[in-house]
Amino acid sequence: MTALRGTAASAGVARGPIRFVTPAAERGDIRLSQDPKRELSRFDESIKIATGELRAIHEKTVSEIGEESAAIFEIHAQMLEDDDYLEAVREEITSNGLAAESAVRFASEKFARMLVETGDDYIAARAQDVKDVATRVVAILSGAARDGFALSQPSIIAADDLSPSQTVLLDRAKVLGLVTARGAMNTHTAILARSMGIPAVVALGHGIDVARDGLEAIVDGTEGVLYIEPDTETSERLAAKEASLKSGRIELEILRGKVNRTKGGRTVEVYANAGSLEDVELALRNDTGGIGLFRSEFLYLEKADYPTEEELFSAYKNAAERLAGKKLIVRTLDIGADKQAPYFNIPPEENPAMGLRAIRICLTRPDVFDCQLRAILRASAFGTVAVMFPMISSTQEVIEARKRLRNAMNELATEGTSFDPSIETGIMIETPAAAIISDELAPLVDFFSVGSNDLTQYTLAMDRQNDALRELYDPHHEAVLRLIEMTARNAHAAGIWVGICGELGSDVALTDRFLSMGIDEFSVSPASVLALRNSIRNSSVGEPA
Ligand code: PEP
Ligand code: MG
Repeated sequence: MTALRGTAASAGVARGPIRFVTPAAERGDIRLSQDPKRELSRFDESIKIATGELRAIHEKTVSEIGEESAAIFEIHAQMLEDDDYLEAVREEITSNGLAAESAVRFASEKFARMLVETGDDYIAARAQDVKDVATRVVAILSGAARDGFALSQPSIIAADDLSPSQTVLLDRAKVLGLVTARGAMNTHTAILARSMGIPAVVALGHGIDVARDGLEAIVDGTEGVLYIEPDTETSERLAAKEASLKSGRIELEILRGKVNRTKGGRTVEVYANAGSLEDVELALRNDTGGIGLFRSEFLYLEKADYPTEEELFSAYKNAAERLAGKKLIVRTLDIGADKQAPYFNIPPEENPAMGLRAIRICLTRPDVFDCQLRAILRASAFGTVAVMFPMISSTQEVIEARKRLRNAMNELATEGTSFDPSIETGIMIETPAAAIISDELAPLVDFFSVGSNDLTQYTLAMDRQNDALRELYDPHHEAVLRLIEMTARNAHAAGIWVGICGELGSDVALTDRFLSMGIDEFSVSPASVLALRNSIRNSSVGEPA
């Protein structure tokens, strides 16, 4: 048995066979080869396979979605015919003795850097395409899965790291657990695992390399341990733990249908976070009062090109209808930073978390923003829909975003399309700037929702993705809590409600404190709804003075 300790990212126990989805060459190790001829022929073969795959995906996309969405795959296929690129890889093999996987990775990184250094935004944006294509070729060379990790049987997914777009592509019916070498508690991949209720351990380090396909394993997502080929004693101990977690969940079942009222008589809303219709279903199964954060960017991450207004409308409408009058708060696109969709062509940035992301992109890309706003507005005719803007740091951004929303309303009204003209409009408070000027922001909106994940990272100047800062990235830090308190005070002074949709909302050690601040709504992962209700019902905090 091998026991590996990492960061507990999503509670619960899962057992099953391991399925490793990251190719070795992506795990950063450099492989050399004594046989350049063999490596050259492996490389040529992988290019043939990759080109064939890309052309097949192109054709499928043309027929299922349309030529415009499919174009990117043709561009990727053409890249594999670029003589300069092919020559650069061959050179790494023949002159530097690298194995084909490492040669592709090295040459592609150099190539991508060269594109960025041209200083031309359009050419620089192609760097991401080079990386995407290289990932495919490396995956072929190492026999790893690509295009959604088709799983033949329910498995524990092991990877060096997973991007949010890879995570959303997972066939969740077959994902028993998730373990990664890198990652941190508040990466979107960990958040996704929590919202899907999949036990996960991240930041396991290089030890994870011993995890081979097919080996039996147990993930203890509560303690943060991965057991590979567990012995009988461990297996029995974890089976007992599994049973006790299950009975804890069963005990919470009696809270279904009960109100979220404290012993002191204060009633608050408990909503759930979702990124897809499946999450909405899961949230409803957990008796949610609504969806307090619909991470709309995941619909973009699943696709090879911009979703159309119809596609977005149908997703929001379905969610609104399923919620049957319960509130659906759609957060507008929070793309950028760790959530990259290559077709946005965002030039590589030194500090993407502080770069072009979320509302900053939307306000410079009115075509993309308007399309989403129209879709949200149209869906508002089919349920109780609210809209929320992320990553706000100034009043000007709110004014501009609201202007675009009004324009979209005017357009729809002229066309005679139905929508809710008094749609609730809010913003996320996730930059210290927004919290500090929340008195000026409050009169501009109907509600605030605190994004504590980003608020913590920007207040403490600590990357939420960096597991080395695990002990320091402290959302309980007084600076973070005081900013939340200030936000709540300013919201109430302006007569608007305030919620919290970051991970901190489900931290029951803080429930009393949040209730005392006057937080009106909590939006948490679906699996945390009943546990939070329990904590609220045990609290004696009354109405704020
Ligand atoms: C947050 O930052 O707290 C938040 C809810 O948004 P996300 O985690 O998607 O960045
Ligand atoms: Mg955020």
